[in-house]
Amino acid sequence: MAISRTHHAFLLPSPGMGHLIPVLELAKRLVTHKIIPKLTLFYTTLQNSSSSKPETLVLQSAIKENLFDLIQLPPLDLTTKVAPHASSEDKIAVLMHELPLLFVSTISTMNLNPTIIITDFFLCQLLPRLQNLNLPMFAFVPTNAWLLALGLHTPTLDKQIQGEYVNEIEPISIPGCKPIHPHDMFEMLKDRTHRLYHEFIGACEGVALANGIFVNTFHELEPKTLEALGSGGISKVPVYPVGPIVREPSPSPSPSSDEGKRREIVEWLNKQEEESVVYISFGSGYTMSCEEIKEMSLGLELSGNKFVWFVRPPVTKASHDHYLTAGERSGTGSGVVSNVEKSNLFPDEFHRIQSNGIVITDWAPQLDILKHPSIGGFVSHCGWNSVMESVACGVPIIGLPIFADQMMNATMLAEEVGNAIRVEVSPSTNMVQREKLAKAIRKIMDKDDKQGCVMRERAKELKLSAERAWSHHGSSYFALSKILL
Ligand code: UDP
Repeated sequence: MAISRTHHAFLLPSPGMGHLIPVLELAKRLVTHKIIPKLTLFYTTLQNSSSSKPETLVLQSAIKENLFDLIQLPPLDLTTKVAPHASSEDKIAVLMHELPLLFVSTISTMNLNPTIIITDFFLCQLLPRLQNLNLPMFAFVPTNAWLLALGLHTPTLDKQIQGEYVNEIEPISIPGCKPIHPHDMFEMLKDRTHRLYHEFIGACEGVALANGIFVNTFHELEPKTLEALGSGGISKVPVYPVGPIVREPSPSPSPSSDEGKRREIVEWLNKQEEESVVYISFGSGYTMSCEEIKEMSLGLELSGNKFVWFVRPPVTKASHDHYLTAGERSGTGSGVVSNVEKSNLFPDEFHRIQSNGIVITDWAPQLDILKHPSIGGFVSHCGWNSVMESVACGVPIIGLPIFADQMMNATMLAEEVGNAIRVEVSPSTNMVQREKLAKAIRKIMDKDDKQGCVMRERAKELKLSAERAWSHHGSSYFALSKILL
């Protein structure tokens, strides 16, 4: 493709590792694949957020590569807009409202001349306000096509269905797509009286004004849904599958993790048999309770498997939130916890199983772990980035979805894609029964289990498809190039 010398894209991600990581990777690909010659990324963090430290580290390392300019905006302070102990839903709703305002006020005062604007989905309420710039605008949806289809179909569902979607008896249908079990419903659509529901619809209406939508999936993963979305289907604007947008393995160590720890993990994995270890992580935001850690430890013990487990010290208060600040997490209010204090927070069952694996309590070098040949399965909350990373590394998933889009993701993988098994998680306590966890781990890890064998094979097949999608003439590379059409 001929590069235009004049194009300059503005890329606007929203805060949080789950959004920042794929947007940074998208930026890198646009530049390294010579699709866009100049790119400026605008970024803000949430004031006092637990993920601002890894976010800053990831940003710093991206900047060192010198591929694009970064304009760091002041942290977004939501403290005057939302009560400190408000629910995650309240906080996200305020974030979705405030972010576009921050970006509009900043961008309009700058003397820069973008030719293209790409915004994260959470920021799509910005698009109507930017229409007067008369520029091509693209939405980046860092999740899958099925969730995008649900989002774009929500204004129709809003008219068709009277009560709450979660109270429907029958699965909720979306034309041409797999129907959605009401109990799997996307978090933002669970309560139609909540402000978040309306912010979500606002973002979906914004998406409809874009010139195109980039979605982090690829053809072989969701062929039916992508067809249903496409030309004249659910989406009125072109949908381009550009996944898997996963950080490319960097020759240097991951900046977001401690190098000593990373080496220790890799050296330990080097000593294990091929595909014999399970990796466990619930993403960048989730903190377990002591009871959850205890039951999970017992499940791991029962499975008899070796493991690498990324687990934060448990929350110390009764009601726990997915988006605790560092201070709230530690229960100290200060956010500073010594290693001894950290260790004391874990239950005895957890300490007992430690000799059978490696525990990481800070930040895991997830891709280094998933890429390692000793990893045979991933016990995951099914956050979409983790799913894409697992797919790109050919690792089958033991899905324990808890929140947000994770239930839909786990159902899709288990029922449609075929590279995962879903384990029941209690919706009220987020607990998984030790026997069920152990059984699912054994199924995936046991070389003689027929069903497990099919899932492992499927995971390997998907790894190859993912590589093809991002090869020079692959479908995802080609789709991303459409930005200049
Ligand atoms: N991640 C990581 N180390 C950790 C925790 C998370 O590298 O210790 C990365 C992970 O590789 C993924 C992202 O953070 O890229 C988490 O995104 P995901 O969508 O899986 O879950 P979320 O954090 O949004 O719940």
